Amino acid sequence: MTQDEFDEKYPLILGWIQNTLTEHAATARPIASLGFKRLPFYFHPDILTGAKVVYLPKVPTPPLNAIGLSQFADFEKLNADGITYLDTFFARNEMRDNEALHFHELVHIIQWQLLGPKLFVAAYADGLERIRYRASPLETMAYMLESVFRNSHAPFAVATIVREQIHALYS
Ligand SMILES: [Zn+2]
Repeated sequence: MTQDEFDEKYPLILGWIQNTLTEHAATARPIASLGFKRLPFYFHPDILTGAKVVYLPKVPTPPLNAIGLSQFADFEKLNADGITYLDTFFARNEMRDNEALHFHELVHIIQWQLLGPKLFVAAYADGLERIRYRASPLETMAYMLESVFRNSHAPFAVATIVREQIHALYS
């Protein structure tokens, strides 16, 4: 995608995100209210109260094909367990008790905060376009940290590590 093409499509993507969040605002729940036991050892309370989740049968993805970005058709059809937009993530209903999935999406919320919406969308799209979903840099970071969370019970400061990695990747 060229810079001009991105600048043309970005407002459409952001508009879709804002509409989608508004549409589901009434059912969005703060992560701090869910009763997960481990998350408070990894994330600052401000993140856990500010971040929200909406559970649905299927997570919503932007209509990328419809706005002329057919190269992302695979991503649109992915049927992911979760997907994060700004301060909110959507998760499939079956993921309600999956603390690691919540951990993973919280990593994306920190990435959104650090990069800001325009850079996050640009970096995510660039990763998808050039490297594919699972190996794109923002996903690699989230899956790597999620794997540490799953395999060890020693807490660590997630935001600090994400900040260092974002800095190394994008500055
Ligand atoms: Zn992810």
